[in-house]
Amino acid sequence: MKRKVIIIGSGPAGLTAAIYSARANLEPLVFEGAQPGGQLTITTDVENYPGFPDGIMGPEMMDEFRKQAQRFGAECMFKTVDKVDLSSRPFSVWANDEEYSAEAIIISTGATARLLGLDAETELMGHGVSACATCDGFFFKDKKVLVVGGGDSAMEEATFLTKFASEVVIIHRREEFRASKIMIERALSNSKISVEYNSTVEDIKGSKEEGVRSVVLKDTNTGELRDYPCDGIFMAIGHVPNTQLFQGNIDLDDSGYIITKSDSTYTNIDGVFACGDVQDHVYRQAVTAAGSGCMAAIDAERWLEIQ
Ligand code: NAP
Repeated sequence: MKRKVIIIGSGPAGLTAAIYSARANLEPLVFEGAQPGGQLTITTDVENYPGFPDGIMGPEMMDEFRKQAQRFGAECMFKTVDKVDLSSRPFSVWANDEEYSAEAIIISTGATARLLGLDAETELMGHGVSACATCDGFFFKDKKVLVVGGGDSAMEEATFLTKFASEVVIIHRREEFRASKIMIERALSNSKISVEYNSTVEDIKGSKEEGVRSVVLKDTNTGELRDYPCDGIFMAIGHVPNTQLFQGNIDLDDSGYIITKSDSTYTNIDGVFACGDVQDHVYRQAVTAAGSGCMAAIDAERWLEIQ
């Protein structure tokens, strides 16, 4: 059956696009993908989303987004799109060899924080391990935290964390940072920030109940391992936009993010819109993603009207 709108991705952007397009009677079909609810489902408390003065758990918030979309007729499918054809209209998408078609597509596949790949990192995510200082910094008042990375994100997150933490240590695998000079200067001139150069994190110790206790650092020059006490660790080693599916189909920037036309969610393909982290490497917040999801639904609705 041909749909008016298919939404690929189910974080705050995709589900907000679903709420708006469902309320506009576009009966959207949402492909939830491999991580239904998106990145917020790997955080714990969300305290910066307006309207929740007492905070809300990330997974719970995304369940509420979904319920709200379904209430107005959005259909959510727990399937992952593995192929798209955007070369002619109606557009086609495939999930498990089943083909679905739509007059308009909204892409909200998000981005994934790059992680080190340690078992403990996954296990303790949201329990002392985080990939978002803006989201979780507040939980580390007067604590010692580590920030892994040497780019602008690491400098920015380290500086931000000094608002809460008593001590912030940047762990970088090389001798030199790749961050911009001004960001390095700002971070290094902060008396709460110090750096362990030529160091990699080999393991994280702690428990879900008590959080992070320490990490095992390796000196990349000597190979020496040492236990390094800390209360939390923030990964700031970059994000990867989830755009593999669209490579060669849609205009992407050098980092792989979808390029949207200014002040809109239009992509280079007429009828294909993008919202949320898949096209935003600057703000990356639930509320900004939701805002752009609303924009995508309105853009799609207005575009469909003139077809
Ligand atoms: P990035 O520039 O790609 O830096 C990633 C950092 O993580 C690098 O220092 C890299 O080390 C390190 N890294 C990567 N994989 C690692 C691993 N497996 N183990 C240990 N370290 C690892 O990413 P980003 O800092 O997120 O920045 C992304 C883009 O956003 C950049 O263009 C940046 O300028 C921009 N940005 C701008 C601002 C701002 O202007 N306010 C703020 C944040 C980000 P190596 O250096 O050794 O490769």
